[in-house]
Amino acid sequence: MRIILLGAPGAGKGTVAELLIEKYGIPQISTGDMLRSAVKAGTDLGKQAADFMNRGELVPDALIMGLIENRLQEPDARGGFILDGFPRTIEQADQLAAILTKLGMGLDLVVNLEVPEDVIIRRLTSRRTCSNPNCQAIYNIYTKPSQRDGVCDKCGSPTVQRDDETEAVIKKRLSTYQEKTAPLIGYYERNPAYCSVPSLVAGEVIDAIVQRLNR
Ligand SMILES: [Zn+2]
Repeated sequence: MRIILLGAPGAGKGTVAELLIEKYGIPQISTGDMLRSAVKAGTDLGKQAADFMNRGELVPDALIMGLIENRLQEPDARGGFILDGFPRTIEQADQLAAILTKLGMGLDLVVNLEVPEDVIIRRLTSRRTCSNPNCQAIYNIYTKPSQRDGVCDKCGSPTVQRDDETEAVIKKRLSTYQEKTAPLIGYYERNPAYCSVPSLVAGEVIDAIVQRLNR
């Protein structure tokens, strides 16, 4: 089962990925995790990536593509994988398509998680995180409030709204997404594996995905 998850920040890609991992026993591949483990393992590509990261520079696409190509061939990805947060641009999507062709791998599903912008803003601005760096428990003022307002249930430290989860910052992240990543939807729309599902309740998304895969 080879799956690409598309969707704005806050569309619930992480939650949906977790449910798919559980259901199909396939790994989730994110570029961040992949970079960290290649650097840790000290592979050639990992060493090159570390050089860029240590200089505070972005790791170039060509290097990322090399890492992806290797990662997709690891034993745990034999039954498939979930790409989450990658590709981010049309160029990356083109290069990924070339790698998949080279490896003789087709895509079973490219799913766009559709969530109205006001719902995303509400979801992300309602998060509160424990300010204790050793705890970092996450709450939600609507769906998972702490027992005492502003106080962590686990360690008693104050809970705070993260700087990158304020409305202004989230609007900026959403507009970057609209500009850079939303065009991917147009790119994949022509692919027979593409579908778009409303992502308001994670369980319903999974049902829609499974239905689609069994079609
Ligand atoms: Zn805490």
